[in-house]
Amino acid sequence: MNTLPYYRAIGKEIEIFEHSYKNKIPFLLKGPTGTGKSRFIEFMAHKLDKKLITISCHEETSSTDLIGRYIIKGAETIWLDGPLTTAIKEGAIIYLDEIAEARPDVIVAIHSLTDHRRELFIDKLGITLKAHQDFMLVASFNPGYQKGFKELKPSTRQRFIATSFDYPEAKIEAEILVNETEIEIGVAKKLVNIATKIRNLTELGLAETVSTRLLVDAAKLIHSGLPKRLSVEVAVVEPLTDDLEVVEALKDLCNLMI
Ligand code: ADP
Repeated sequence: MNTLPYYRAIGKEIEIFEHSYKNKIPFLLKGPTGTGKSRFIEFMAHKLDKKLITISCHEETSSTDLIGRYIIKGAETIWLDGPLTTAIKEGAIIYLDEIAEARPDVIVAIHSLTDHRRELFIDKLGITLKAHQDFMLVASFNPGYQKGFKELKPSTRQRFIATSFDYPEAKIEAEILVNETEIEIGVAKKLVNIATKIRNLTELGLAETVSTRLLVDAAKLIHSGLPKRLSVEVAVVEPLTDDLEVVEALKDLCNLMI
């Protein structure tokens, strides 16, 4: 990709990231899903002209997945670098999305990379690799005030500079929708009003509420010609919950507002 990805800065995150990069301090993005964390990292990697390697961590992600493994090829056994090893050698930015979801051995493996040592021990090869001077470690974490989310231990968190991401204020969120989808500003504002309303309905007990990503999806559908009410129903309401009563209540609410 040669053009700079669109990212609307919310606070001082660009400046903070640049200084974090310059000082070789790992960077942690905290916040709910769909608030622009991945987009921000794509934007920063592009701005700093660095290669970005993204890993979406899940409960099966192990240190082997990141560091590398031996594979059998024909009659031979060969070593294959994992994405973290590649990033360390090439001086790329590695982004461990949802790091708390990964297995504990991932956290153990990155420790020596997050302090002054900036090195990775590859036990299967019996070597310690020094990180390239351009290498940077970035991770994201969803603090999830609801149950079901994994925590990140203080001893790990304190190895990062951290910034919080959240849903932008209404005016900025509408601006993002217009930029992302070329939807009319009036419709964008209505979508943002719907999101604000649902976000305030904490009594619904939704695991995650309406993200900017859902609004972008709704705006895309509307812009491509799907009726507005249907677009909101399938892009905003249905992905949020499977509780039929809540779905019906939210549909009614959205129909009134779009
Ligand atoms: P996260 O990584 O936090 O889950 P993403 O970065 O994937 O979220 O954001 C989801 C979508 O929301 C993006 O694809 C983009 O369309 C939009 N978005 C959210 N915040 C911003 C922002 N500040 N600037 C530009 N686009 C944004």
